[in-house]
Amino acid sequence: MNPVRCGDCGHFIRSTINPEQGMGRCRVNAKTLPTSYRGYAPSLWPFSERYCRSFIACT
Ligand code: SF4
Repeated sequence: MNPVRCGDCGHFIRSTINPEQGMGRCRVNAKTLPTSYRGYAPSLWPFSERYCRSFIACT
């Protein structure tokens, strides 16, 4: 599985205050896996990488 970014995903709901860079939400509340040794997935910043089986690419 390759890491993905929420900002590239069709399930991502962007921040209304800062749509480009603000922390958004996941429409399907997907469970994600961390990409780092720290063991937790990052918050839903559009550029943070995560492993997510629910990712759908934006068209
Ligand atoms: S489905 Fe996964 S990649 Fe897409 S917005 Fe939700 S957590 Fe992010």
